[in-house]
Amino acid sequence: MRSPDTDLLMSAQTFVRQVVAPVAAAADEREEFPVDVFRAAGRFGVFGAGFPSEYGGLALGWAVYTGLIREIAQACASTAMSAVAHATLAMLPIFLGGSERLKQRLLPALIGGEAIAAFAMTEAGSGSDIAAIATTATDAGEHFLLNGSKVFITNANVADVAVVVAKTAPAAGILGLSLLAVERGTPGFQATGRRERKLGMRASDTGELVFTDALVPKDNLIGRRNGGFAILQRTLPAARLDMAAIAIGISERARDLCVDHAVGRRQFGKPIGRFQLVQQMLADMETSIDAASLLLARGLELRERGLPLAKAASEAKLFASEMAVEITRNAIQVHGASGYSRDLPLERLYRDAKLTEIGDGTSEIQRLIIADEMIKERLARIPGR
Ligand SMILES: Cc1cc2nc3c(=O)[nH]c(=O)nc-3n(C[C@H](O)[C@H](O)[C@H](O)COP(=O)(O)OP(=O)(O)OC[C@H]3O[C@@H](n4cnc5c(N)ncnc54)[C@H](O)[C@@H]3O)c2cc1C
Repeated sequence: MRSPDTDLLMSAQTFVRQVVAPVAAAADEREEFPVDVFRAAGRFGVFGAGFPSEYGGLALGWAVYTGLIREIAQACASTAMSAVAHATLAMLPIFLGGSERLKQRLLPALIGGEAIAAFAMTEAGSGSDIAAIATTATDAGEHFLLNGSKVFITNANVADVAVVVAKTAPAAGILGLSLLAVERGTPGFQATGRRERKLGMRASDTGELVFTDALVPKDNLIGRRNGGFAILQRTLPAARLDMAAIAIGISERARDLCVDHAVGRRQFGKPIGRFQLVQQMLADMETSIDAASLLLARGLELRERGLPLAKAASEAKLFASEMAVEITRNAIQVHGASGYSRDLPLERLYRDAKLTEIGDGTSEIQRLIIADEMIKERLARIPGR
């Protein structure tokens, strides 16, 4: 008998084939966010897969949700990335730290895809270095007064609500950060309309948000005041697992195209899949996809059980993203000239793969996190410390 998860995966494959895949190439070409596809993903249940039913979720577990992201990434990594910005980076903090009133007001529409969310942390002067955030939220009685600007924000121009990282205690570094849900229509809050022209992920919207004395109600505070970093520590590892899933999805698509081509394309009187140098590329693709999938599965298991996952998530993201760049590069190689042509999706996969080494923390930052955790684990075993 098939499990309900298998049934969902099969219907997800149909959803992706019928709804996501047909528009992926054109959306990339036109650099247009396919908003109808995004909303359809909400109706299908992608955004609510991991959230509980009281907010309209399906309560199927985070592994099912991340599995859906991986499935979508095989057809359109841009849509998968927009979905992760919406459902993990923005919705998860609201779920973890929002007041019950805020959750009831925002989550159902976000889960259904009727409303779209963005997560706004990065600034012109603050990327990897979160402590350098310059946006401030100052106390103004019933409200916070928000001032600053955010760049490279996914969904910026289409968002109905943005989860904004700001300083409430500027001198306290990362311990002075707070998260605020800022809703469209808030006086002093605007998307500038700028759309980043990007190497890849071109069908995702990337823009700028500006806050000029924006009046944000106190009830829109997510978590405790100055407690934003604690929420980020639970959100960012989850998003890194999702980024690993996107990298794996991209890689799986590239590998599948390579296997088909290795069987169908003949040179020197035989299929190119008979040449050992081509076989080596296929074997390495398969082995590294399996390894990345195991790293992801381990991270998801920790997430499901509520255990610390910073190191496991960084390992999964680091390995999967570097793998995706290598696999898509080799996939073009296996295809020769046809791989270089825009008639096939391989060049798009290659461009999209590169983002997975940058977004949600660069590869260098993942290595720092992994090494820091290794050292912490080691020090914890020294008696008397
Ligand atoms: C398409 C796209 C979508 C994005 N979406 C969002 C979003 O929705 N929300 C959001 O808040 N942000 C978003 N970002 C921003 C993204 O999270 C940042 O780009 C990323 O965190 C890196 O920051 P940076 O670009 O400022 O690079 P920098 O931090 O300036 O890093 C530049 C280089 O220096 C290296 N480096 C920096 N510090 C160290 C160190 N301590 N040790 C070693 N090397 C170091 C980095 O690894 C990198 O190679 C997006 C970016 C892109 C490209």
